Amino acid sequence: MLLLVAERIIAAEPHLSEADRNLGDGDHGLGMQRGLTAAREKLMAFPDDGSVTIDKLFSTVGMAMMSSMGGASGAIFGTLFRDGGKALVGRETFGAAELAIFLRAACDGVMSRGKAQPGDKTMVDALHPAAAAAEAASGGLLTEAMAAVATAADAGKEASKAMVAVFGRARSLGEGAIGFPDAGALSVTVILEAMRDFVAAR
Ligand code: ADP
Ligand code: MG
Repeated sequence: MLLLVAERIIAAEPHLSEADRNLGDGDHGLGMQRGLTAAREKLMAFPDDGSVTIDKLFSTVGMAMMSSMGGASGAIFGTLFRDGGKALVGRETFGAAELAIFLRAACDGVMSRGKAQPGDKTMVDALHPAAAAAEAASGGLLTEAMAAVATAADAGKEASKAMVAVFGRARSLGEGAIGFPDAGALSVTVILEAMRDFVAAR
């Protein structure tokens, strides 16, 4: 699942870069590509025999992103996977309940690290509704929970178009930021859609 996430983010580089060009400095796609390329290398180095725990897989992605991307978004996206992963210690399967635990811890970690609130036009605008959707669907099937989560993230990303930015370079644009989605919210949507597509195909 995480290898598909890496593949999709790496392939989405032009879209992520364009989104960041509209509101920021245009480096988001390349940063994410670098982070997920490093993460993929770490994942590929693990033995493929089920001996690596779920929390370790997610945390490894987060740590690889932190150390390879640099900057604010490396810390923030790294925190998403690392804190989400840490919350899964002791879990042996990844079902709808684990998805909810993962996304709640990821969202809490990102919000405490970056200080962004929903409505500030950041990746939190996709992650926060995704975590709520996961909790609402945590008692059912992972395929259904994943579908609800990806839909919620995409709706949050769309809603970010109408927001004025509070963080980063887009802040100086003021109302000029209206109409463009946040680049990080687009990344969160790509990540969760990859997870959805992976579980749907199994
Ligand atoms: P940089 O802003 O250093 O150029 P990127 O372009 O890679 O980094 O990432 C920008 C994205 O990072 C934004 O679109 C936003 O979603 C996210 N981001 C930036 N600051 C914060 C923050 N404080 N909290 C949450 N997300 C943030
Ligand atoms: Mg940028």
